[in-house]
Amino acid sequence: MDRRLAGMVALVTGAGRGIGWAIARGMARAGATVVVTARTSAIAEQRAAELVAEGHQAHAEVLDVADTAGTRAVIERVAETFGHLDVLVNNAAILTPRSALEMTEELWDRHHAVNLRGLFFCSQAAARVMVRQRRGAIINISSTSAILAAGTSVAYYTTKAGVIILTRDLAGEWGPLGIRVNCIAPGGTATQMVPSLLDPAVKAHADASSLLGHIGEPDDLAGPAVFLASDEASHVNGVTLIVDGGAAFWRGRRSLGGPHPLPP
Ligand code: NAP
Repeated sequence: MDRRLAGMVALVTGAGRGIGWAIARGMARAGATVVVTARTSAIAEQRAAELVAEGHQAHAEVLDVADTAGTRAVIERVAETFGHLDVLVNNAAILTPRSALEMTEELWDRHHAVNLRGLFFCSQAAARVMVRQRRGAIINISSTSAILAAGTSVAYYTTKAGVIILTRDLAGEWGPLGIRVNCIAPGGTATQMVPSLLDPAVKAHADASSLLGHIGEPDDLAGPAVFLASDEASHVNGVTLIVDGGAAFWRGRRSLGGPHPLPP
């Protein structure tokens, strides 16, 4: 049995579905008490109940990261209830496709309010608890689209790029206080955020074109998140771990089964 997070309390934002849910479940399976948060209590309660039914420790909270005061109240309450908060996973985000010429101020502001401002104030609230413990791990979810733009939503890309430098800054500011801050940058992953990847035909084509035989599945992010939260990563701070099967930095052709020809 995996006990790498035994005794830890881990709060995951946007844990009702997709990558957030996979990470919440992965952390529960690694022994953490998981605070499953979602914007609606029914979803948070249902997911927490699923973890408890699997024999894990879980607790549900309603949390909208765009509501800073509400976020602070939830995090303080969790710290009070459990006596500590060891891990925060900043997963919640939105992506509304819109070309740069059609981008509106409202849409721009909404992406930044949730994906970047919300993530920062969630981190700050958690860090104010963690600093009292002199211990904590914060894991931010960015995206390979922070590095490789694709014309879908410049508002989203700028928030995800911001998450990478935010991670590096907080790692430096809070590392001396015992709080590690790291980041995961997933590649395209089959979730509701990218509805086309939920279409079986599109997914099959994307899988066939990938280097490792399949594009990202939510569970592919669970292991890296558990590692970064665990004491195995006790000297890992400020990194952005790309989890995309090798796609981001490969411009060559996909090998069709045989070994790659050796470079001359
Ligand atoms: P998803 O299925 O759309 O899940 C997003 C989650 O965020 C949902 O649970 C959603 O809850 C929650 N959320 C949205 N706004 C929120 C708010 N204001 N406060 C709290 N929660 C909020 O997408 P996903 O693919 O799992 O995305 C998870 C993370 O991975 C995101 O940070 C995303 O940017 C990143 N990512 C995804 C991909 C990909 O290809 N899927 C690639 C790179 C990075 P509601 O149900 O309440 O809306």
